Amino acid sequence: MENVLIFEFKLRQMTDQKKLLLFLFLSIQNISYCQQPSMDFEKYNPKSTLVVPEHIRTRAKYPFIDVHSHHWNMGTQDLRELAEPMEKMNMAVMVNLSGGNGERLLKMIQNIKKNYPDKFIVFANVDFDGIGNNDWAEKAVRQLETDIRNGAKGLKIFKNLGLRVTDTSGKRVPVDDPRIDPIWNKCGEMGIPVLIHSADPSQFWEPMDEYNERWLELKERPGRKRTNEDPVPWQQIIDEQLRVFRKHPGTVFINAHLGWYGNNLQKLGQLLDEMPNMYTEIGAVLAELGRQPRSARAFMIKYQDRVLFGKDAWEPEEYLTYFRVLETADEYFDYYRKRHAFWKIYGLDLPDEVLKKIYYMNALKIIPGINDSLFPD
Ligand SMILES: [Zn+2]
Repeated sequence: MENVLIFEFKLRQMTDQKKLLLFLFLSIQNISYCQQPSMDFEKYNPKSTLVVPEHIRTRAKYPFIDVHSHHWNMGTQDLRELAEPMEKMNMAVMVNLSGGNGERLLKMIQNIKKNYPDKFIVFANVDFDGIGNNDWAEKAVRQLETDIRNGAKGLKIFKNLGLRVTDTSGKRVPVDDPRIDPIWNKCGEMGIPVLIHSADPSQFWEPMDEYNERWLELKERPGRKRTNEDPVPWQQIIDEQLRVFRKHPGTVFINAHLGWYGNNLQKLGQLLDEMPNMYTEIGAVLAELGRQPRSARAFMIKYQDRVLFGKDAWEPEEYLTYFRVLETADEYFDYYRKRHAFWKIYGLDLPDEVLKKIYYMNALKIIPGINDSLFPD
C-alpha cells in the first residue's frame, strides 16, 4: 500500500512524456508476464487426472480371427513367433494378406500346413505389372486360379491400385478399370472374398494446416500427402471402388479400414444397405469408432453381420486397445498412435452376440477353409 502511494505521488510530479514512457514500460512488462513458454502440439501430452473404472483386456473375450495382417516372410519364418502371442491374446486365426502369388505364396502355405495348419490363412495378390498387354487379364486369372488351388483363401488388393498402378502406356489404372473385371468375376466364381484397400484417409487430400485432423501424420509421413492432381481427388478413387462392388454383386468384397468412412458412419451404413456383397473391417481405424461411442455402438449393432475384426500392423500389445474398445464401457482412454488420433477414446460395450459376429462368425461365413471347431457356437 505504501509503495502504491509513493508511486502515485511521483506520478503527479512527472511530465506527460515521462508518463508515456512509464506506461510503455509497464505494458511491455505486462506482456512478458502474461506470455508463458510455448509448447509443440507434438510434445503436449497431458496425463489424464480422470478417475473412472478401468477394464484392461489382455485377451479377447472370444477366440477371434484377424482378417487384416501383413507378413512377408511366412515362407521361411518360424511361425512360433506369431503363434505364441496369438495364443496369449486369444487370436485363433490370422489372415495374412501379403501372400503374393506363385512360388512365394506356395512356400507360405507349405510352412503353415507343416506347422500350424489351423492358425493361418493366406490371401493372394494380383500382379498389375503389364496391365495394358492383351494377355494380362488371362495370365492374371490363370495365376489366381493356381494360387487358389495351392491354398489361397482370398484376394487382397493393395491401395496402389487407384493411386500408383499405371498401365503399359503410363496411365493411372482406375480401381474400376474394366480390364480387371475378369479377376473380380473369378473370385466370385471360386467363392473367395476380395479384401480391398482403396485411397487413404480423406484428410491426406486436404490442406496441411491447423484444421487438418491428420496434420501430425502428414508431418511424420510427408509421402502420404495427396492432392486432387496427385493422383486424382479422394472421392474419385472411392467412387471407382464402389462401382466395382456394384458391378460385381456375385463377388464378396471386404472394404478395408471401414472404407475410410469411419468418420461418417451414416454414409457407410447407406453403402452397406445398398450393397449386400460389401463387408468391412476395422483395421487401423479403431480411434474413429472410439471417438463416437454412441454412434459407433449403434452402427456395430445395426451392421453386426457385416463388420469383421482387422488390425493391420502386427503389434501384439496394441490389440488390447481393440478389446477394450469393443468389449468395455471404459471412458476417455488412450489410443496408441497419436498421428491417427490425438483424442481420447471410449468403449462401445458391445453385446456378446455382436462381439461373436465381429470376432469370428462373419469371417467364418465369407472366408473359406477356416476350421470352425476352434470357435464357440
Ligand atoms: Zn493393410
